[in-house]
Amino acid sequence: MLNEENYDAIAFAVLRALPVPVLLKDAESRFVFVNEEAARFFGVPPAAIAGRRDEDFFPADQATVYRTIDKDVLLTGKPNENEESITAANGVTHRIVTRKALLHIDRQPYVMATFHDVTQLRSSEERIRYLAYHDLLTGLPNRAALYDRLGQLLGRGQLAGEASSLLLIDLDGFKKVNDTYGHQAGDELLQEYGRRLKAAVTDEDLVVRMGGDEFAVLVCAKRWSGRLDGLCEQVIGLASEPFRVVGVQSFVRASVGAVKIGAHDASAGEIIRKADTALYESKHKGKGRFFIYTPAFDASIFLRRTIEIELARSLVDGVGLSCAYQPLICTADGRITGVEALARWEHPKLGSLPPVQFVPVAEETGLISRLGEWVLRRACQEARSWDIDLLAVNISPLQLRDAGFADRVLTILEQEEFQTSRLELEITETAVMNADEASLGQLRTLRGAGVSVALDDFGTGYSSLRLLQDLELDKVKIDQSFVQFATDAGGSAAIIEGLARLGTNLGIQVVAEGVEREDQRALLVDIGCTGMQGFLFSKPIDASLMDELILGWPNSRTSPGLGN
Ligand code: C2E
Ligand code: CA
Ligand code: CA
Repeated sequence: MLNEENYDAIAFAVLRALPVPVLLKDAESRFVFVNEEAARFFGVPPAAIAGRRDEDFFPADQATVYRTIDKDVLLTGKPNENEESITAANGVTHRIVTRKALLHIDRQPYVMATFHDVTQLRSSEERIRYLAYHDLLTGLPNRAALYDRLGQLLGRGQLAGEASSLLLIDLDGFKKVNDTYGHQAGDELLQEYGRRLKAAVTDEDLVVRMGGDEFAVLVCAKRWSGRLDGLCEQVIGLASEPFRVVGVQSFVRASVGAVKIGAHDASAGEIIRKADTALYESKHKGKGRFFIYTPAFDASIFLRRTIEIELARSLVDGVGLSCAYQPLICTADGRITGVEALARWEHPKLGSLPPVQFVPVAEETGLISRLGEWVLRRACQEARSWDIDLLAVNISPLQLRDAGFADRVLTILEQEEFQTSRLELEITETAVMNADEASLGQLRTLRGAGVSVALDDFGTGYSSLRLLQDLELDKVKIDQSFVQFATDAGGSAAIIEGLARLGTNLGIQVVAEGVEREDQRALLVDIGCTGMQGFLFSKPIDASLMDELILGWPNSRTSPGLGN
């Protein structure tokens, strides 16, 4: 046990050896006591410090600060806490937090100080702040930093009138680079794109990696005033230039959604949401494009969501869904050889929506397989008794990706007692061009079972008829845009003619779509297309009217007589 008499000596020994710097100054700011830990910081033994002042150890301005604080503590009696950078005797700069308090000894006032070296703490705090606000891969500020910066600017009222804009950028095809060449390639591409963006804007602007393959650019500079279009195009252009990653050339494209930031914008979240809405628009209206936010986009997103929910419901109970049928005409004798089934959807509140609106939503939301199969089954049921050779049904490329697709088509045909040879599947040209081996395998299986395959909207992609031969197709449907201009001088007649001739040589039928006028029909007959389809013959009609149309058709097999 330590005894009482020794108490002061013990306390003093502890204080001297305490691993926390402690010092005491008198009312004239002279050091009267310095413990060992404090002396180590001064770089001299404790005895060498006693009686001296801050001026003897620190630069004049620093010493003045200490003295001012000392005076304040002596005068008010209030403790003080102060943080500053101090260059110690060994020349190393430290971040120091000093706490000072008034202490009376024998009624004499003293300033007692302890100090803590927070250099380590501060630098790790700084690191944490950096991590919280930066993306490690690209070194760019991250989403949190964007919120922060927008918040600051909004708070200071600096955004309004400055032609500030926010661009959200999404790289299309990035996943493919990642999957094909590996993550290293993906990482390098993101870093490079980040560098390109940074080089394109000023230091006042903020280039952000939002996460994944999404970037953002916040431009606050006046120089962009009225030229947001130009900036969007530039940003898209920067992504279109090839990327050299892991030694190979890679290509991506950028979709951009932009928003002009106005005085009425209240929050960072609101601004980002608007840009996001515009980005959504550009991703869905074709990649490699930009859209600048307008309030109308909110409505279109709302409509899409509504379609998604309501279409899912209709697919369960079948309410509102139907098929319309448009006859396919044989050019040689004018008779109806088949019909194309076209999906129709009538919603009690949304009204009747065209397939161009609900088919893409079905594709995006994974409802397309169910929709496609619903159409196929219904069309088989309705067309079974019609006096036609062929029922054409449209299929989405996404349906082909489904490994069980061919089997399910054949099952439906069997269940509905529909001959495989009477079914033709129409698939768009671009879809076939982009189809993987598995998808093409599905088509081959179906063809092997007797189903024929037609290439829809031909001419909108870039395939050649040679490619068509490799794909073993039965038919090509020339897109309506060609037929539309076929009768113009210097129009597309020559192209259609060339296709028809090639088709004949390859044993592929060539059908012209969108025939609306008599002069177009006459020309197509001349050219030698195998088939025709269009409003001139009939608009798509309800199943209940089809029997009548076929029976009343001039060149119907059941009403012989009228030449061609
Ligand atoms: P598509 O397969 O090219 O179908 C032909 C479209 O052209 C139909 O539009 C038809 O009404 C229209 N049309 C026919 N003749 C003429 C004409 O003379 N002039 C003009 N201007 N248009 C004509 P619809 O029914 O609106 O279908 C649009 C597209 O939606 C279809 O184009 C097809 O790609 C898609 N689609 C329709 N039903 C389905 C379906 O069940 N599944 C899938 N995956 N897609 C479908
Ligand atoms: Ca079609
Ligand atoms: Ca078509």
